[in-house]
Amino acid sequence: MAAEDTEIDQLEDLEEYVEPEDVEEEVNNEETEVQGSYAGVQSCSFRDMLLKPELQRAIGDAGFEHPSEVQQNAIPFAMVGNDMIVQAKSGMGKTAVFVMSTLQQIEVDTEEETKVDTLVLCHARELAYQISKEYTRFSKYLPNVKIGVVYGGVPFQEHKTMIKDDCPNVLIGTPGRVLHLINEKVLKLDGLKRFIMDECDDLLNALDMRRQVQQIFKATPPDKQVMLYSATISPEARILCKKFCREAEEIFVDDKKLTLHGLQQHFVKLEEKDKIRKLTDLLDALDFNQVVIFVKTKQRANALDKILQKAMFPSMTIHANLKQKERLERYKKFKEYKARILITTDLMGRGVDVERINIVINFDMTNESDQYLHRVGRAGRFGTKGLAITFINGEDDEKVLEDVQNRFKVKVTELPDEISKESYMAN
Ligand code: AMP
Repeated sequence: MAAEDTEIDQLEDLEEYVEPEDVEEEVNNEETEVQGSYAGVQSCSFRDMLLKPELQRAIGDAGFEHPSEVQQNAIPFAMVGNDMIVQAKSGMGKTAVFVMSTLQQIEVDTEEETKVDTLVLCHARELAYQISKEYTRFSKYLPNVKIGVVYGGVPFQEHKTMIKDDCPNVLIGTPGRVLHLINEKVLKLDGLKRFIMDECDDLLNALDMRRQVQQIFKATPPDKQVMLYSATISPEARILCKKFCREAEEIFVDDKKLTLHGLQQHFVKLEEKDKIRKLTDLLDALDFNQVVIFVKTKQRANALDKILQKAMFPSMTIHANLKQKERLERYKKFKEYKARILITTDLMGRGVDVERINIVINFDMTNESDQYLHRVGRAGRFGTKGLAITFINGEDDEKVLEDVQNRFKVKVTELPDEISKESYMAN
């Protein structure tokens, strides 16, 4: 706590450094090349997958033309009921893999009492909400399929009423609330046919969340399809994942191939006291649709948000200290492009999909390499271009950066004085 307080003080002390008027324009030139190219979209079509006509129609409405690599590799196995452990690059459409393959399989008998058919667990409330929106989008022409979402921070009674009066076929939720509903005998999972964990290594890494997941798992029937998804699955998590599955189809991407090719990645070495000045210089100089700035604590997120707003930048913050309603409202606001700069913590580091984000700035470096990959994956979604800039302050940060480069075989280079806008903005 004391350490965090010092950091906030430091941030606040630094307010005087922010003088937007005297920030020089340092905009682009045409010299920097786009690094790598995007090659994830395959030539096979969704039609070849023989999905239900209702799903095909919704896929058409969503404007998806071709399945991505992970969709092409995983949907054919997942849609026939195989257990799956799937590692897929950030932003390459893994949500659609489990959404389409579950909707393909669900059969709703309107004469029978509705039971939860599919349960999707994920670690963050915003992610749960986002997944529920994907289910809603793809079940558009399947009117009998009901989608529900539950997470903490919303009155328990609300969820109790929803499940009792209008039980969903597909339930998406965070482990704490799902377990609470089970323990209070509101939620019964005896009819469950599909159990899914998104960002599964996050669900399994922290001991308390893992325990909740295990307890939920115990409340489900033995005969069901289990699917686990994440962009990174550590060797330890992989062993754990297998314990949930029976002869799972495993789809793994070599760590070295997890790099996002449309994404340009740079670092800046600087002192803590110079971070704010550098950040505002960058925000002034770069062209962006939306930017996400990651910091290491909620307190720093708040402090930095205040500083940026004072300097007239259109910023906002989302972190775990906010009330649930406020968190979701802010998330929607950002998704709807009503703010262009989001300052946040690792809470929003995974899974969160906002189409217009084209720049990620690590104001504070992550503690480890996997989380770096998740964070920068917020830019350059579905193979579009993007830019990631990481502030490196001290040996610990340098060590993580080195790990990132070795593990993912990516070259993170020093930030050049000028970056051409074409190299990180979609045409
Ligand atoms: P995800 O990795 O699941 O978070 O998906 C990243 C983004 O890619 C989302 O906005 C999806 O709607 C989009 N997406 C997923 N699959 C496709 C596809 N086959 N074609 C175009 N966009 C897609």
